[in-house]
Amino acid sequence: MVSNMKKLKEILEAAGIKPTYERLRILKYLEENNNHPTINMIYNEVVNDIPTISKTTVYNALNLFVEKGLVLPLIITGTELRYDRNTKPHHHFLCEKCGKIYDIDIECPYFKKGYVDGHKITELHGYFKGICKECLKSK
Ligand SMILES: [Zn+2]
Ligand SMILES: [Zn+2]
Repeated sequence: MVSNMKKLKEILEAAGIKPTYERLRILKYLEENNNHPTINMIYNEVVNDIPTISKTTVYNALNLFVEKGLVLPLIITGTELRYDRNTKPHHHFLCEKCGKIYDIDIECPYFKKGYVDGHKITELHGYFKGICKECLKSK
């Protein structure tokens, strides 16, 4: 988790992205919140600091981050795109009750081998749905 502006700037520059203030602020949100946010979640937070920012700016910044490999787009709910700063292959768990998305770190044997049924694997997206442990506890 990086929240230091200098470090954030280095991350953007290393990815070949010009570090504008808007992009730095969006990256800061992604670093500080491991919540697989939607565009709206990011926008609603960042607009507090930058009242002039538009949703299009947030959208464009995220597209650029995806293109440069800084974040992974995640389609899990079926209705909205979420963004994940954790770009190494991992699974997800979506809670049907509270809507929270958890990272699940399990090793996929096929991904490790690199092939499944003769097909070469370049990406892995696996997800589970159910009731999360927090919701199970508060029943
Ligand atoms: Zn839950
Ligand atoms: Zn994740």
